[in-house]
Amino acid sequence: MSDALAPPFRLVAVRLPRAALRDASGFRFDADAFAPADITIDENGILSQLVPSAPDAGSEWIAFPPLVEPHTHIDKAFLRARAPNLTHDFQGARAAIERDRAGGWTHGDAQTRMHRALELAHSHGVVALRTHIDSQPDRLEPCWAVWRELRARWEGRMQLQAVVSLGSGKLQGAHGEVLGRLAADHGALLGPVFYVDADLAANVARTFRLAERFGLDVDAHIDENSHGHAEGLRAVLDELDRRPFRGRVTLSHLCSLARCEPGEIAALARRMAAHGIGVIALPVANLHLQDRDRGGTPYWRGVTAINALARADVDVAIGGDNSQDMFVPWGALDPLAVLRDGMLAAQLDEPLGDAVARISSQAACVIGVGGRLLQTGAPADLTLFHADDPVGALSGDFVQRLTLRRGRVVARRRTEVPESPP
Ligand SMILES: [Zn+2]
Repeated sequence: MSDALAPPFRLVAVRLPRAALRDASGFRFDADAFAPADITIDENGILSQLVPSAPDAGSEWIAFPPLVEPHTHIDKAFLRARAPNLTHDFQGARAAIERDRAGGWTHGDAQTRMHRALELAHSHGVVALRTHIDSQPDRLEPCWAVWRELRARWEGRMQLQAVVSLGSGKLQGAHGEVLGRLAADHGALLGPVFYVDADLAANVARTFRLAERFGLDVDAHIDENSHGHAEGLRAVLDELDRRPFRGRVTLSHLCSLARCEPGEIAALARRMAAHGIGVIALPVANLHLQDRDRGGTPYWRGVTAINALARADVDVAIGGDNSQDMFVPWGALDPLAVLRDGMLAAQLDEPLGDAVARISSQAACVIGVGGRLLQTGAPADLTLFHADDPVGALSGDFVQRLTLRRGRVVARRRTEVPESPP
């Protein structure tokens, strides 16, 4: 395949993951849940044919479905060097961001970093992205003004969602009303950070009342700790048991659920499924920030109980969280890297051809942007790897990676191919 790839064209024996297909009947899947398929893309970039390949067809291409970043913080991205985390932990991160914000953020600084984050995500094949934006009373600008500009600038290239993010205790009174209106005006979500303290139940109740009044969905940072009681989750479930909520509820992190007893986890997961709650696991951030209080030796991985949630039919997406900032120094907004780390951290039981849903179709469902599955008549949106093996590609063993939108290459990454010795 040449770099000048343009529709119409046909690809033979592309290996597709089961999670990418609207209708998987007739395909022969291997142990990794990938099947060879012949695909034809017409002159308008539409997938006009999608059929199983002949049994002996060879393949050198692997296609992943359109990728989704369900949880990031582009307002803080790339601040690692400028505002270092002196203690490497959560409190050190909060201190670092406070110091940096005290100097005042300019519009140009926020715009440069936020746009760079979107470019990076797009270069990795991301079609939809949800970012939280710090929204304490004194720091609504410049980031919300920049957000409005970026949303217009990226229209048609990437679906963007914002979350009004702050400690849930600050949603009281007049500022709560201001933020409810801000979220409604921007089509944004309400993003409380629920801390475990004496006000937890009251903060949960207030948050859902505010969201209901302004017609908002909720995506909460919750149980980002090792307590082992999932207090935040229990408070949300109790509130939803008491009072019906019409919006969509997403819970991000949920670390301490993994420290509960297996029977408790299963029971809580069943209650979550009954309420239609989606979960966004953030393994890279959890591996980095959890369990830092025992003399520098971590004893647990921090990531939520993905296998148990999946068994209870709770939708679980995997996100990258912070990127190269004071909270998490790693990350380049590449969902494939995040999936690889997540499968390792959470010991996912499912094969890669199903697990890829957590950064694509299922992640899209969790953030409410539609599944974007591959089917005849749909736009040819794909991430193509020139590679021998899907798990190898996930590990970085590929020759090139092409992002296609409506059959056209919009981003390309190559790896250096080593030369053989003479
Ligand atoms: Zn976050």
